[in-house]
Amino acid sequence: MHGSGEPGDEQLRREGRTVSHEESRSARRDRAVRQAVEQGLLGPDRPIVALLDVTGIRQSAAGLRAAFEAVAAPGTRILHAFAVKAAPLVPVLRLLRDEGVGAEVASPGELALARAAGIAPERTVLDSPAKTPAELREALALGIAVNADNPQELARIDALVGAGTPRSPLGLRVNPQLGSGAIEALSTATATSKFGVALRDEGAREWVVRAYLERPWLTRLHAHTGSQGVALELMARGVAETYELAEEINRRAGRRQVDTLDIGGGLPVNFASEAITPTYGAYARVLRDTVPGLFDGRYGIVTEFGRSLLAKHGTLLARVEYAKRAGGRPVAVTHAGVQVATRTVYAPQEWPLRIAAYDAKGLPKQGPAVEQDIAGPACFAGDLLAREYPLPLLEQGDYAAALDTGAYYFAHHYAYNSLPRPAVHGFVADESGEVSFALVRPAQTTEEIVRESGGDHADALVEGLGG
Ligand SMILES: *Cc1c(COP(=O)(O)O)cnc(C)c1O
Repeated sequence: MHGSGEPGDEQLRREGRTVSHEESRSARRDRAVRQAVEQGLLGPDRPIVALLDVTGIRQSAAGLRAAFEAVAAPGTRILHAFAVKAAPLVPVLRLLRDEGVGAEVASPGELALARAAGIAPERTVLDSPAKTPAELREALALGIAVNADNPQELARIDALVGAGTPRSPLGLRVNPQLGSGAIEALSTATATSKFGVALRDEGAREWVVRAYLERPWLTRLHAHTGSQGVALELMARGVAETYELAEEINRRAGRRQVDTLDIGGGLPVNFASEAITPTYGAYARVLRDTVPGLFDGRYGIVTEFGRSLLAKHGTLLARVEYAKRAGGRPVAVTHAGVQVATRTVYAPQEWPLRIAAYDAKGLPKQGPAVEQDIAGPACFAGDLLAREYPLPLLEQGDYAAALDTGAYYFAHHYAYNSLPRPAVHGFVADESGEVSFALVRPAQTTEEIVRESGGDHADALVEGLGG
C-alpha cells in the first residue's frame, strides 16, 4: 500500500534486482518523511507540511519528452507547456523549464508566475475562457501564443491585430463534442461544454473554416479534451477530429496555414497505487495509431499536461493531533483536510487518496491494518481525507501522509476556517540515503491571514462609509 517495510534502493541493488521507478519513488518518500521529522520541518508546532520529489518530477518531464520524440518524425517542433494551474509554484515552473518544459497559463496571475520563473514568451501559451481586452493586449505585446475561445474573443483579437502581422502565434480552441468521461465536472468535450467553439453545432465547422480563411495569421488549432476519468482512446479521437479540421482548413486555404496543433493535456493519473499508468509512452502510441499524420513532421505540436507531470511527486504530511473513537470507529484527527484536499473532501467518491501511516519518528508505521477515518482540522463533519481506511492504527503524534498530492491539492489552498497555507519543500535523496530539502513556498503566517482578510481595513464598515 505504501512505503511501509519496502526495501531501499541500496538493498535492492545488493540483491541484484533492478530498481523500478515505483520502488525508488516510495523509498525516496520514506526517507524524505523521516528526514523531514528529524530536521524539524514538521513537529508539534508545525503540524502540516508538503513535500515535492524533485527527482520524480524530473523523471516525469524526461519521460514526456522521450515519449513524443519516440513517435514524432525527426525535427518535429514540439513544445510541452505545463498547465500552470496544476501546480502554481514558481520554483516548480523553473524546475520544469530546466527540463525543457514551457507553460500554459489561463489568468494574469498564472502568466505572472510563468514570467517570474523565467519562462520565455515563445514557450508560453495563454488559454482561458474569459480573457479581458487588457490580458489579450499584454499577451500580444509579449509575443505569447494565444488560443481564442470563441467568436467574440476572436473579434477582440482582430481589433488588436489590425492590419499588422501579430508577433504571437494565434489559434482557436475547438470542442469536438465527443462526450463525457467518468467525471462530469472535468469533462471538457461534452456537447454543452463551456470551452471553445462547439464543432458539431449547426454551421459551426463552416464558421471556423471561414474564420481561418479570412485571417491568414490564424496558424494554430487547439483542443483540450482529456482530463481525469477520460480514456486514452476518447482523448485521441478528440485530437483526430482537430487534426482533420486542420487538414480541411489547409486544403481550402491551398497552403499550410495551420502549422501547429495544440492537443491540450489531461492525461489521467492513477491514484489507486504507486504505478504510473497510463504512461506518456502509451498515450503517444495511441495518438500515433489513431492520428498518424500528427507526427509526420508537417505540424508543430504543443501539449499542455498538468496533473500527470506532478501528481505522483507530492506528499502531504500531517500530524495526528488526537486519536479518538466514535461509534466504535477509530478517528485520527490530523491537520490535513478540506484546506489542502478540497476535491477529496467534497467529492470523496471521485477523488479518493491513498494514505500512508508514519510513526512519531517518521518511520513507516507497522502493525495490523485497522479501518479508521482520517479526519482534517476543519469544523464540519465531512472534513475527512479518507473513511474506513485500512492502516496500522494511527496514534497521537503519528503522521498521516496523503500521497499523489503534487497537483491540485496543497498548491490549491482553500481558506476554510482561516487555516494557513502549509510550507512546501522540494527534496532530493541521494544514493547514500541523505536527503536535502529546499523551501519552495513558506507557510502562511497568522499575520498574513489577518492582512489578507482585511486586517488593514478593520474600520471600513463602521467608519469608512461616512456613517
Ligand atoms: C486544465 C487544463 C490543462 C491541464 O489538464 P491536466 O488534467 O492537469 O493535464 C491543459 N489545458 C487546458 C486548456 C486546461 O484547461
